[in-house]
Amino acid sequence: MKYALVNPQWTFEGSTYFGCREPHVPLELLSAREMLRAAGHHVLLIDANMEELAPADVRSKLEAFGEDFLVIPTAPSYLFWRCPQPELRVPKVWIGSLARESKVVLIGPHGSATPHATMMKTGADVVLRGEPDQTLPQLSSVPWEMVPGCCWRDEEGRFRVSEGLGTTDMKAVTMLDYSDYPVERHTHLHHVFAGNGADHLKLGAEVEFARGCPYSCTFCNKTLFRNQFRERDLSQVLQEIDQLIARGVDYVYFIDEIFGVGKQVRVLLEEIAKRPLAIGFQTRIDLWNEESLELLGRAHCVSFECGIESITHEGREEFNKHCRFTTETIESTLLTARKHIPWVQANLIGTTHDDPAEVARFQRTLKAAGVWVSEPVPLFPFPGSPQYVQTFGAQPDEGAWERAHQFYLQLFGDRGFSDIQDQQPRSLAELECAL
Ligand code: SF4
Repeated sequence: MKYALVNPQWTFEGSTYFGCREPHVPLELLSAREMLRAAGHHVLLIDANMEELAPADVRSKLEAFGEDFLVIPTAPSYLFWRCPQPELRVPKVWIGSLARESKVVLIGPHGSATPHATMMKTGADVVLRGEPDQTLPQLSSVPWEMVPGCCWRDEEGRFRVSEGLGTTDMKAVTMLDYSDYPVERHTHLHHVFAGNGADHLKLGAEVEFARGCPYSCTFCNKTLFRNQFRERDLSQVLQEIDQLIARGVDYVYFIDEIFGVGKQVRVLLEEIAKRPLAIGFQTRIDLWNEESLELLGRAHCVSFECGIESITHEGREEFNKHCRFTTETIESTLLTARKHIPWVQANLIGTTHDDPAEVARFQRTLKAAGVWVSEPVPLFPFPGSPQYVQTFGAQPDEGAWERAHQFYLQLFGDRGFSDIQDQQPRSLAELECAL
């Protein structure tokens, strides 16, 4: 069978999307390509976002290839599946513009939470819930009732959903093949800020070392995918890194939910320390100590971002953070991290447990020592996160994304959007009517 995997050109105009808007490697498509190839399928991977291709450019490539399945993600890269844009404008526009006869398969966070609404909004033929790496090949070899997380319309037009969710065996994710990928176009260095010790770096990439997280913070949108913690085979990851270095990459951002948990992470860092490569990632501060932070320095870590969430134990418990550290230890460990790493960031979420004056003191103290601390931001109750159910008292339904979006906009009602939004966001209905 022939599978075309297309990363569309993303636009977030009018969106509440707060993730990075630069192009990133579509790791979900590269990973699926390896699984599809191993199963004997022909694959065409087109990163229209990185290559700045319009739908007409992609359509002519598809016509030459003649795919049986056209696969499109609903969010830009695995890196942002946990914080996607709420609207489905881009997949809808691309499905309509490509106008293919093949089976259109959507993967991503929207269909994982609300598959029927995702199918109705976009006109896709199939929606795969969960991680699609290993369920995509099954679409052409297994009855769809047997494919975990498969949603489709049968011959009578009835909406069908198979049991379960796609969950990938990460030991099966071998070295991703970049031989025909435009690595050189990826000049963006994710989460690297000018003037903060990394201005010498030129070419970035993203790598996945481990997927999932053993914690269960209420706001974290990972329960339907990237949930259970799993490491890849270290030798495969190192081969992938060496392949990227050979192409000129000097900075890798690990997209892992929580870098630093796994059994192999120290070995990985020792290996990176021997290579001409800088790294960045998101983590939890309570995974690190003086010795491991020194190792991070040797491994050329230039970007270290932690979700602290709250400056009080009560606030952290409200989010089910289960942080092992007291606030004093969090503070001192951030300061130690800053001795070894040029960019250390601590993120806060708005909670009534935190006294604004104490938050200001926490920010002042750390910023004076070179640690960047965010303003406490409101939460988007993503459908699929525990926070959604806590907020609305029910599982996500057909209107879940609209409800969450409306709630999020109201949180900003009195504050304006200027602190994290650069424009007045539009309603989902307005954004999704864009075709
Ligand atoms: S530690 Fe991070 S990745 Fe893990 S559940 Fe909490 S927010 Fe999500």
